[in-house]
Amino acid sequence: MAGEKKKKIVKTIKVDADKCNGCRACEVVCSAFHAAPKYSSNNPARSRIRVIREPIRDIYLPVYAGEYAPAECMGRDKYIIDGKEYDECAFCRAACPSRDIFKEPDSGLPLKCDMCEGEEEPLCVKWCLVDALTYEEREEEVEEEAEAQEDLEIGLEALADKYGLDTIMETVAKMSMSKKGS
Ligand code: SF4
Ligand code: SF4
Repeated sequence: MAGEKKKKIVKTIKVDADKCNGCRACEVVCSAFHAAPKYSSNNPARSRIRVIREPIRDIYLPVYAGEYAPAECMGRDKYIIDGKEYDECAFCRAACPSRDIFKEPDSGLPLKCDMCEGEEEPLCVKWCLVDALTYEEREEEVEEEAEAQEDLEIGLEALADKYGLDTIMETVAKMSMSKKGS
């Protein structure tokens, strides 16, 4: 019902980029935890946290995978902070068509940080031995919101954007036919 309030747990990972040394342990543990089955492999290209690492410019910036973006922005941000020049879109968390990060390297499917659902504490936070990452939870009252989109739905939307809905439907139909036949 409109106007109804409900309690929501807001999860935050605070990033202290000054403490980050660019070891990328967070990328390794994230990709291992999300491998299927869990911990069967690791590949930082599939991590939901990526560390922008440029030692020559003294830049070590962990960035978390956020929402899937079907289209690029009309313009791009580029920041200079305390004399350090960051690359275009450096702070952006979107799985966006303009770049390869936050996408499965084989399929291009979008990746999104799920705060390591089911774990007591996010694993990247646990394995960041210099405490550049800190996990915080707080409760907030919010308006009743629409159901969040499931990962599967977002993945299908991304594939449909890339290949067209007809191709996806045809491929799924072919797959189910060949499964039935096997
Ligand atoms: S584990 Fe911590 S120090 Fe290492 S790259 Fe990740 S955020 Fe930086
Ligand atoms: S919280 Fe979990 S899913 Fe998110 S980046 Fe860290 S390890 Fe990956």
